[in-house]
Amino acid sequence: MKIKKFTCINCGAPKVNEYKSPYIMCDYCGSFTDIDYTLGLDTWNESPERTQEYVQKKFYYINEIEKALKKNDKVKYKQQQIAYWDFYYKTYPAYLPPSVDSPEKYTAYIELCGESSTEYGFDPKWQDYGKEQEKLQHGLTYYTHNGETKVEATGFFKLADFFIDMTKEGMRVFYSDPKYALMNDVFPEKVHLKMKLSMFVQVWLPYLKDEEQQKLLDKSGFNMQYVDIERPKGREGECEHCKSDIYIPEGSYKVFCEKCRKTTKVQQTFKCMSCGGENSVPEYPAKPIDCEFCGVENRLIKALFG
Ligand SMILES: [Zn+2]
Ligand SMILES: [Zn+2]
Ligand SMILES: [Zn+2]
Repeated sequence: MKIKKFTCINCGAPKVNEYKSPYIMCDYCGSFTDIDYTLGLDTWNESPERTQEYVQKKFYYINEIEKALKKNDKVKYKQQQIAYWDFYYKTYPAYLPPSVDSPEKYTAYIELCGESSTEYGFDPKWQDYGKEQEKLQHGLTYYTHNGETKVEATGFFKLADFFIDMTKEGMRVFYSDPKYALMNDVFPEKVHLKMKLSMFVQVWLPYLKDEEQQKLLDKSGFNMQYVDIERPKGREGECEHCKSDIYIPEGSYKVFCEKCRKTTKVQQTFKCMSCGGENSVPEYPAKPIDCEFCGVENRLIKALFG
């Protein structure tokens, strides 16, 4: 079996099970760890009717959001942002981080999306960045190549570099704010950055020639390295939610089910490496955890993959 090479950003484990959705879940700690850009694009292109409807409705929300901004109405602005994000994830459920796996987490997550968009929307610095981006975009020149519209590369990569730097900076500010702590668990910074970049890549890729496409994919971290996967030792198991077969590699604490997009807890307890006391496995097993008896820090999966 050949799959794209992914290494978990939280515990270091390789991806071993086949996946069908754009979001890559770790087979050992169950965390949301990467994005398969091509599968994301397939989801986007799956139904042109749906995407057309989405674009129209999005236009409505953008309009409402801009009206609220002009009136300096922060409350209305945030309400519309929340409505927009809810609509976005209901239209494209495959784009919702699978780590947002309960109604409570969904509500908290959408609220965070609304809150952070509002903060950015009303901050003059990000407004200036937005204007700069528009300027670069308006300055682009287009030409026809084999009957297709292409964009002139020098100008485009100026825009791409600006967009990538701006997005990285925005992510850094956002993730260092304790108010958004939940995000580190449900949507890690590195993965979130990739998702934002993937939207940009998605839009521009068709306007680039082959070698320029590769350059953009490299720049945004979407390298396509395929590897042969040898299934590690493990056993067949059953998803605790939908009862589908799942493969559980040895040493795994949580395995993601591609059928129902939920994680199954494989191990409920672990023995402290220092005192041998039996502890409960935490919700995010990639995080270091202190033994409840002796206080020594245990790393559940890191030990396997260094
Ligand atoms: Zn992991
Ligand atoms: Zn399942
Ligand atoms: Zn202990």
